[in-house]
Amino acid sequence: MKYLFGNWKMYLDYKQSVELANSLVQENFENENVELAVFPTALAMKDVTDILQGHFQTGSQDAGHPSKGAYTGMISAEMFKEVGCTYALAGHSERRHIFGETNKDVRAKIESYLDAGLKPVICIGETEQDKDNDKARYRLSKQILRAFEGLDFEDGQILVAYEPVWAIGTGNACLPADAVDRIVFIKSEIAKYSKISVPVLYGGSVNNDNVLSYLTLETIDGILIGSASTKLPEFTNIIKSVLK
Ligand code: PEP
Repeated sequence: MKYLFGNWKMYLDYKQSVELANSLVQENFENENVELAVFPTALAMKDVTDILQGHFQTGSQDAGHPSKGAYTGMISAEMFKEVGCTYALAGHSERRHIFGETNKDVRAKIESYLDAGLKPVICIGETEQDKDNDKARYRLSKQILRAFEGLDFEDGQILVAYEPVWAIGTGNACLPADAVDRIVFIKSEIAKYSKISVPVLYGGSVNNDNVLSYLTLETIDGILIGSASTKLPEFTNIIKSVLK
């Protein structure tokens, strides 16, 4: 199974999200070997999930870790589950670096997603500074330790996305061979904490021109696409080339 996920971030408002979902569903994409999912704004989650039912799964870009109560402004994993979500991102680099989420916050989210029955997509990746200082493996191993040590989960419940921070939204994608090298390392680090094998996706400036150079490689279990998944012609072309 390969995974092709589109993170719509805060690029699309409610109306645009619903329009894109309506256009995507008309394409009638079908391939039982590829799991398609989009991560729309929370505002459009229910409608997009209903529109895409049977064609794409949906996921939340983030969720609060308390499940219910006096937490002004938060939406819990349980609430996303209630409207039909399957996945939720945990620790996307924009959450870590713009909103200051720590490994501890990410771990709390992973546990709350699992409790709610959502599948966490745990985002990890080194910064440019880490890379330049030869600290990429250190950063990844620390993020993996904090996410997985003592974590109780079952086969098929968790995915990881390797998203080097320097490659996200920059047009400077990680070379496929380097992504493989990192993903081999990530899988070996996860194996220190769990016997369950976890699919690892690559994300960072993937587009129609380079998607197959990752997805045809056995080690790379899928792709998380940001901005290219928000434009109908480009996302459609990417999906078509992957499903071919
Ligand atoms: C992302 O935000 O997860 C991402 C991979 O973004 P982009 O494809 O735009 O680099």
